[in-house]
Amino acid sequence: MLSVEEAQQRILGALQPLDAELVPLAEAAGRVLGERVLAAVDLPAFDNSAMDGYALRAADVAGAGADGPVRVKLSGRSAAGEVFRGRIEAGQCVRVFTGSVLPDGADAVVMQEDTAVDPGDAEAILVRDAVKPWENVRFRGEDVKHGATLGETGARLGVGRVSLLAAAGVREVRVGRRPRVALLATGSELREAGQPLGPGQIYESNRAGLAALIRRHGGLPEAFPLVPDDLAATRTALERAFTASDVVLTSGGVSVGELDFVKAAFEQLGGRIELWRVAMKPGKPFVFGRWREKFIFGLPGNPVSALVTCCVLVLPALARLQGAADVALPGSAGVLAEPLVNRGDRRHFVRVRLDAEGQVSLAGRQGSHLLGAMAEADGLVDVPPATVWETGRSVRVLRWE
Ligand code: AMP
Ligand code: MG
Repeated sequence: MLSVEEAQQRILGALQPLDAELVPLAEAAGRVLGERVLAAVDLPAFDNSAMDGYALRAADVAGAGADGPVRVKLSGRSAAGEVFRGRIEAGQCVRVFTGSVLPDGADAVVMQEDTAVDPGDAEAILVRDAVKPWENVRFRGEDVKHGATLGETGARLGVGRVSLLAAAGVREVRVGRRPRVALLATGSELREAGQPLGPGQIYESNRAGLAALIRRHGGLPEAFPLVPDDLAATRTALERAFTASDVVLTSGGVSVGELDFVKAAFEQLGGRIELWRVAMKPGKPFVFGRWREKFIFGLPGNPVSALVTCCVLVLPALARLQGAADVALPGSAGVLAEPLVNRGDRRHFVRVRLDAEGQVSLAGRQGSHLLGAMAEADGLVDVPPATVWETGRSVRVLRWE
């Protein structure tokens, strides 16, 4: 049986990023950059006003105050998107707005609230407060310089980076292709929602949760029909699934029972099993294999086990297929509000809640068939074998959302 680290390394080692594709920036959030993007402009692109007000020479209004306003001559107006065609000389100002190009000769902007139009002269402004040189001026290139890196290859595009790229005039970006993931659920006891349940039958639940996880992590899930516990049916289903996808995710049928057909069917198809069984709880029965240039992840059938093994072993693989530099699940720091105990000999991925204050508590009973705790959980805490962690200990909560 492999350790979790060994399994993760072997899986990541077997995978290459899929080809990148060009997508409109508006559709790129959440995707992984397939190339480094450089700025083709300065941001801001020109010195401009940070306020609605008057551009002038700071020295001209150095003595201005509430009791002693300084009068300056209004020589023009420059709205955002316009350029003032003159030059500001001593004792002059130009009406500007937020984002207006700073007129030549000006070295500051007095905000409108500190001014008034001279009651005796509509072409003059009374300034009631001094400004320091370059006050209320936003400088060309102070945000981003022409040629600077806007995003590295392998970076996942968050909202902020999409905005930055948009500001730099980027229309399309090259991003890693989203892996198509076929979802197969095996088990003769399984029924689709909406069907009546006979004795011993249950509703199939793994494909829905797995699809949600996969979509959130950049994959394109596709649910395939239920597969009964039968070797030939399993083989046919696997073949169809491989044809339509980059990755096949099965659940159930990978344990040691005589009705567990996934491994045998996969090998009959010509697939090669790269690893089987991982020392984790929940989720010991787990298969990873290769079929031509495609991959299978055989997850255990128990619903909690399927979701947890998907988080720990499949989501990093999907990140790698998209070309992500950082494939680890995101984590949040927390502090235990109650002890966590693992008396077993496998790493235990405990379902926990994490509240707004960072307090971590058990999400409920921890059996691998108990979805109630999964539904309440915000994440997983990875507790090593033979370990007792006391209340107050700092822990990392692995998150799937
Ligand atoms: P298996 O891994 O096939 O031995 O299944 C382990 C347990 O998980 C059994 O109780 C199955 O009925 C249950 N199970 C397997 N697949 C699913 C599924 N897709 N949805 C709900 N329960 C399942
Ligand atoms: Mg089964």
